[in-house]
Amino acid sequence: MSAQIPFDLLNSLTLPGFERTLGELNLVKEISPGDGVDCKIAIELPVPGYPHKVKLEQSIKEKLATIDEPPAEVSITYSLNVKGPESGGTVGLRAKNVIAVGSGKGGVGKSTVAATLAYGLKSMGAKVGLLDADVYGPSIPHMLGATGKPEVREHLNPDGSVIQRIHPIQHDGLAVMSIGFLVPEDNAIIWRGPMLHKLLTQFISETEWGELDYLIVDMPPGTGDVALTLSQMMSLAGAIVVCTPQKVALLDAVKAIAMYQQVKIPILGMIENMTGDLFGRGGARQTASEKGIPFLGEISSDPTIRIQSDESSLGRIFEQESEVRNNLEEICTNVAMEIAREYLVKPQAPTLEILQ
Ligand code: ADP
Repeated sequence: MSAQIPFDLLNSLTLPGFERTLGELNLVKEISPGDGVDCKIAIELPVPGYPHKVKLEQSIKEKLATIDEPPAEVSITYSLNVKGPESGGTVGLRAKNVIAVGSGKGGVGKSTVAATLAYGLKSMGAKVGLLDADVYGPSIPHMLGATGKPEVREHLNPDGSVIQRIHPIQHDGLAVMSIGFLVPEDNAIIWRGPMLHKLLTQFISETEWGELDYLIVDMPPGTGDVALTLSQMMSLAGAIVVCTPQKVALLDAVKAIAMYQQVKIPILGMIENMTGDLFGRGGARQTASEKGIPFLGEISSDPTIRIQSDESSLGRIFEQESEVRNNLEEICTNVAMEIAREYLVKPQAPTLEILQ
C-alpha cells in the first residue's frame, strides 16, 4: 500500500497556458491512492476544449514519478467548471460569460461566427445560450433551423410572488432567443432607442436562460446602441470583432473596435472570416497586431457554410471533418482560453460581489 499522495505535490504544478499553479486555481479535486498500485486523480478545468491536456498529464506523471513509491498506474479524470466575470450577476441572468460578437459592417459572417461559436463551445461541454441581438436583420433562427414561439410562463419567487418569465427556444442543446421568433421574417421594424432598450432588457433579465457558461450575443453591425445598453447592464467577458480580409472591411472593423472600447466592453480579439483566394488572407491578423489585440483565428471561405446556413442546418458543420470545422474549433478554444486568461491571470477589477 503506497502512502497517501499529498495534494501539495500536484498543487505546485503550473497549469500550462496560464501563469498560475493548480493549487492557486484550486483545480486538484481528488487524489485517491486506490489499492497501492492505482492512483486516481480528478482535475477541474476552467475552460472547455483545454488545449494543453497532454502537457498537463505529462507534468503530473513526472511529478508522481519523483515520490518514493510512485503509483504504477495513474488515471486522470477531468471535470469542467468554466470561470468568468459572472456577467449576468446583477440583472437576473445566470451566465458566467457574456460574449458580444460584432462587426463593422454587415455580410462579413458575424452571425455565422456567433452561431458556430455557440455550437463549438457546446460540443466542448459548455452550457451555451445564443442571443440574436441583430434586431435589424435577425438571421439566427433561419441559420439554425430553430422555430417556435418563446413561451411566457409564471414563476414563483422565494417570497411567494409570481413573475412572468420568457422561455427561450431550445435547439440542438442551445438556448436560443431572437426577435425573429416573435415577428414574421419579412416584417421590418424601426427600432427607437427606448424600444431597443426594453427588448434587450426582456431578452436578458426576463428570459429564463437557465445556468450558462457562455451567452453568445450576435450584435447588430456598426452602431453602438445595443453595445451601450449591454455594457450598462452587465460586465461582459468581452467582444469579438469579425471581419473579412479586405481593406474596407478592416477599416470598418477598426471602427467597431473603437466603438466597443468607448462603451467599455473589453476586446477579446479579432476573427478573420472568408479567408481565401477571393478576399486574400492575413489582413485581420495584421490589424489585430497593430492594435495590440489578440487574433483569435481565421475561417476559410467554404461554400458548405453558406449552403448549410441557407438550408437551416449550420450546426451540421461540426458533424464532418473539414478544414472549416478545424478553424472553428481552434477559434472556440482560443476564445475560451482568452477569457480564462483575462479572468484568472490578469489582475481583476473589484468583482460585482464586492461592489454590491
Ligand atoms: P453578417 O452576420 O455579418 O451579416 P452572415 O453570418 O449572415 O453575415 O453571413 C453572410 C453570408 O456569408 C451568409 O450567406 C453566410 O452563409 C456566408 N458566409 C459566412 N461565412 C462564410 C465562409 N467562411 N465561407 C462561405 N460563406 C460564408
